[in-house]
Amino acid sequence: MTDCLFCKIVSGEVPAKIVRESPGAVAFRDINPQAPTHVLVIPRAHHPTAAELAAADPATLAEVLTEAHQVAVDEGIAETGYRIVFNTGAQAGQTVFHVHAHVLGGRGLNWPPG
Ligand code: AMP
Ligand code: ZN
Repeated sequence: MTDCLFCKIVSGEVPAKIVRESPGAVAFRDINPQAPTHVLVIPRAHHPTAAELAAADPATLAEVLTEAHQVAVDEGIAETGYRIVFNTGAQAGQTVFHVHAHVLGGRGLNWPPG
């Protein structure tokens, strides 16, 4: 999609601090980190939400989750614990409608989230 911020990160039109790349996914640091590790993992292809990606291309959703875990390994938080969040819909705080997994860790994380 030409007007999608995260499609532009995939294409390189918008710069990002990329930490991992796989055939179907890209991981980059969140511009406004909420924890010592805060990385976003996205599919290269445009799908608005996790549910729509699951319906259209479940293998790529699995790849996004595998890459999210690898980010946690790379960042040294796989053992201590980390959180994967898919905000879905405006009331849940989704602001970019290209599905993205937030990978958060490196500090204690409250439950339930706000
Ligand atoms: P959400 O609110 O769940 O849709 O998450 C969108 C996330 O994208 C937020 O945490 C933003 O800080 C992050 N974000 C917005 N623009 C950029 C950008 N250019 N590079 C990296 N992260 C971004
Ligand atoms: Zn997109």
